[in-house]
Amino acid sequence: MERRVSRLAPSPTGALHLGNARTFLINWAVARNSLWELLLRVENLDGPRNKPWATQQAIDDLTWLGMDFDGPITTQAADLDPYRAAMQHLAEAGLTYPCALTRAQIEQASTAPHDNDHELRFPEHLRPVGPIADSPSAFVDEHTNYRLLVEDAVVPVTDTFAGTKQFNPFREIGDFVIWTKREQPAYQLAVVVDDHRQGVTDVVRGMDLLPSAARQQLLYGALGWPVPHWWHLPLVLGPDGRRLAKRHGDTRISYYRECGIAPQRVIGLLAWWSGVTASRVELSAEEFRQGFTIERLDARPITFSKDDEQWLCGS
Ligand code: GLU
Repeated sequence: MERRVSRLAPSPTGALHLGNARTFLINWAVARNSLWELLLRVENLDGPRNKPWATQQAIDDLTWLGMDFDGPITTQAADLDPYRAAMQHLAEAGLTYPCALTRAQIEQASTAPHDNDHELRFPEHLRPVGPIADSPSAFVDEHTNYRLLVEDAVVPVTDTFAGTKQFNPFREIGDFVIWTKREQPAYQLAVVVDDHRQGVTDVVRGMDLLPSAARQQLLYGALGWPVPHWWHLPLVLGPDGRRLAKRHGDTRISYYRECGIAPQRVIGLLAWWSGVTASRVELSAEEFRQGFTIERLDARPITFSKDDEQWLCGS
């Protein structure tokens, strides 16, 4: 049987909420039902945003809900050499260049209007002058941002759950940052290097990262590595239709835990949201796993309602 490996990859920049918990629970259930290995990788490269308490809290939340994982827990910041090696490879292939421009400078030089909800696209006229692709260089200045040279082309992403979607990273984001001036890889590069070095074959995560899959495919291609199977799952939204966040009240798993709410109540809600049960009933993670099939997962986002909140509070 082919070895399949998946991972839970929380960022310790905040607490796990009901939305993250549902994605992790589904990832866990699919991995356990399909006999995949399941790793836990703490994505702690976003230094300034990391919270010192968040790693242990994420582990405690997952364990409290009844999930487990295989092998040692890894953290990204523990070893930067594999990311440097990937940067070296990309630099030698002429696919990356240093870029010291600040966000304000890019905004100023952009012709397209920019609203804060959207990512800032890097306009191609800000690329260094002269051909980059045909001039191999070295990755030397770790104190500078580096961008990936992105071609104007459609990148199809074939997702096991969401189907095939077309993206054009050049139009959406332009040359994006893969190495930061903090002397660390940026998210897009870090996640690709880690999934590759950890032998991850199945990436299960929230739908908000689907456009990132196209960007990551560019890196997989440039590094000559196989693309994993993607599974981008629907998000949980607040009543206002926006991604679940603090403004929707306290939906942190640690909050329910501290309030003395049983994990079975939380899983009961996630199970109802995931097509496992026809109504909210208390359930263990193990019962969730036994009842879960991806075919019954609704592709539409879930809206966290007042009734859901009341259910969690025990009425
Ligand atoms: N650490 C990322 C996050 O918490 C997930 C990255 C990934 O699954 O690719 O949003």
